[in-house]
Amino acid sequence: GASAGSAAEPLFVLDSPNVVYTDAEIRSKYTYRTSKVKNGANGGYIVMPHETAYEFKVERKVPRTGLMMVGLGGNNGSTVTAGILANRQGLTWETREGQQSANYYGSLTMGSTMKLGTDAETLRDVNIPFRDVLPMVHPNDLVIGGWDISKLNLAAAMDRAKVLEPCLKHLIRKEMAQMVPLPSPYYPDFIAANQEDRADNVLPGSKACMEHVERLRKDIRDFKAANDLEKVIVLWTANTERFADILEGVNDTADNLLKAIEAGHEEVSPSTVFAVACILEKTPFINGSPQNTFVPGVIDLAEKHDSYIGGDDFKSGQTKMKSALVDFLINAGIKLTSIASYNHLGNNDGKNLSSQKQFRSKEISKSNVVDDMVEANSVLYAPGEHPDHTVVIKYMPAVGDNKRAMDEYYAEIFMGGHQTIFISNVCEDSLLASPLIIDLVLITEMMTRIQWKTESSTGEATKEFKNFHSVLSVLSYMLKAPLTPPGAPVINSLAKQRAALTNIFRACVGLEPESDMTLEHKLY
Ligand code: NAD
Repeated sequence: GASAGSAAEPLFVLDSPNVVYTDAEIRSKYTYRTSKVKNGANGGYIVMPHETAYEFKVERKVPRTGLMMVGLGGNNGSTVTAGILANRQGLTWETREGQQSANYYGSLTMGSTMKLGTDAETLRDVNIPFRDVLPMVHPNDLVIGGWDISKLNLAAAMDRAKVLEPCLKHLIRKEMAQMVPLPSPYYPDFIAANQEDRADNVLPGSKACMEHVERLRKDIRDFKAANDLEKVIVLWTANTERFADILEGVNDTADNLLKAIEAGHEEVSPSTVFAVACILEKTPFINGSPQNTFVPGVIDLAEKHDSYIGGDDFKSGQTKMKSALVDFLINAGIKLTSIASYNHLGNNDGKNLSSQKQFRSKEISKSNVVDDMVEANSVLYAPGEHPDHTVVIKYMPAVGDNKRAMDEYYAEIFMGGHQTIFISNVCEDSLLASPLIIDLVLITEMMTRIQWKTESSTGEATKEFKNFHSVLSVLSYMLKAPLTPPGAPVINSLAKQRAALTNIFRACVGLEPESDMTLEHKLY
């Protein structure tokens, strides 16, 4: 029905003593089964089954939520805003191919399903929308605002972006024109010099300072109050910055970072200032660009304030293909020996990336995405052995937002043969990134309403419910260079990232992880 998935009437309930629904909460007792491995004799292993009993608690009330984007007037910012307005109003418009209606294609949350189980009589799979597993915010209900160093209103910004169809723009122009980005910190050294001509909406001062932190905190509070919001999520979709140097005494710890901001140290980037403001304001902050916003001092600060952060760099086009394809090749036992990745794009992102220091951030973010898959296969790769991997990005104004990504995958197959796969991928960049922004926001918001405790007698038991770790690595599916808690491994395999996300959501409602064994169809 219309209210499916709401707190009052979930799409399904689990008929099990391990799961309890109250008006306010879902409580689920869940046994997490893993294997602990020790080295045995002669290079072998000894494996010990291990169980941890968890209890998960999900707050059922869906809060009134705001999304504040940094870079609101950019291609992504204006496109995702227009897309949400169009969906909210249920718009249909004319294109040269016929009528087009608003949708959320490309969003895992809004566009994909997961298996609930098998029909008790027919044994056929029963699948439900991902968004109905837990009580999530609907993107149509997000209140949107944010900052940009360019003061164009969002109607003019969507024209500048050259992404959306004229007939759609016509239908939302009035509402878009009323949205004007808040002024933002601009430290010219961090983004390309070629961005300077659009920086007409900036806060006074050209390096980090506490006034900027306090101003951004106030912006968040004012936005919350003006729109009667219970929660705000802030997301960086502004230009790619250069990397900040990690300096002892400057950005290595929370205290040093706060002191460095106070002292106006020039190695603190605008994105780090935003992250600090959000953490102090207990507002989740997500970084959609590749730079190292999350210097060690930011992670330390987030942990101290029990505030959520997630990043880095949207995984929309070329890298998403790469993390699916490399997963497939290596898990098929095929020895990938090189990847050559070439892009050209003509939007403002491409213009910014035509500057060497900003390109370097993107190159780093795009380069490490196969490491874990290679390392996991000791049959094909000796320790330390890697496929060759090169990434090229060129600015080509004519193609605008329609980025071209060309990839050659070269692999060694049976008996010294070779397989060469060449992929040509036209990525309508902002239309791929916008649904990822929505997923990042919806899943982050959901994670703020999930808590856990252990019930085992192994010394790991906790009395009070606790939050997930401040670094939300569960967002990895949407991100090229997933940030993980200090010391935790990075998982790049797209299939594993999706499984982690869906299985954690399932555990919260007492559903077993999806094993895909389907024994009911194999053992008659
Ligand atoms: P864009 O250049 O169109 O938009 C960025 C906006 O940020 C601009 O409007 C600019 O004025 C603004 N800005 C720059 N510095 C700012 C600051 N300090 N404060 C506030 N606003 C600031 O770029 P885009 O295509 O929307 O991409 C945004 C970011 O997302 C880029 O860093 C890009 O690398 C990253 N990204 C995009 C994709 C994708 O579009 N598919 C994928 C991965 C990563």
